[in-house]
Amino acid sequence: MKKNWTSKKQKSITHEKRDHLDMLVEFTNADLTNGSSNPLMRRFADFLNLMMVQHRKTHPYIMSAEKTSIMQGLQKHFRTRFYKIIQNSQHYVELPLWTVEGSINFKVDTPYRFYERFQFHNVKEENELEAMERLIDLILIEIIRDLDFRPRRFHQCPKCKSYFYQPTEKERIYCSIRCGDAVRLQKFRQEKKKLQKRLSEESDKK
Ligand SMILES: [Zn+2]
Repeated sequence: MKKNWTSKKQKSITHEKRDHLDMLVEFTNADLTNGSSNPLMRRFADFLNLMMVQHRKTHPYIMSAEKTSIMQGLQKHFRTRFYKIIQNSQHYVELPLWTVEGSINFKVDTPYRFYERFQFHNVKEENELEAMERLIDLILIEIIRDLDFRPRRFHQCPKCKSYFYQPTEKERIYCSIRCGDAVRLQKFRQEKKKLQKRLSEESDKK
């Protein structure tokens, strides 16, 4: 991927990467068998096609939302990646996540700018799903690096099992207000039941 060297803190890059991550997380959690996910799958396919422009040699594909088995395979791949980040960030030791094999070409783009371009190693017998998985691995690394995210900002919602990231440093347990409220309501009802049971037991004793 061609990447001009600019300050990582530059706002436009942060915004763009956030938008990408939002879309990828939405894709990861979506029910792809539901027709309402079709616009999301099309956006995801467009995004991949754009990313592939820089990797024509190793990725001579055109993605489309109609490639159902690839779409489903990629969603599964995202889920295993997010799951692994969350699992490995629970520990205080260095743990591997994944490896992307290739090389970085480093050039002077204009007299004022350097740029780096990552190129995948060529693989014999390329298979489309595998190639896309490697592209996704690279994309995720770039997004996380540019956003300067800590691993513990990735989570899986204990209520609905969706993957999500905390947009700020403030710790979040549930993916949404809806899930948080649902759990609080459930706890409140359980407490109420317990209390009622205790009260009725106490009145029985009298
Ligand atoms: Zn949730």
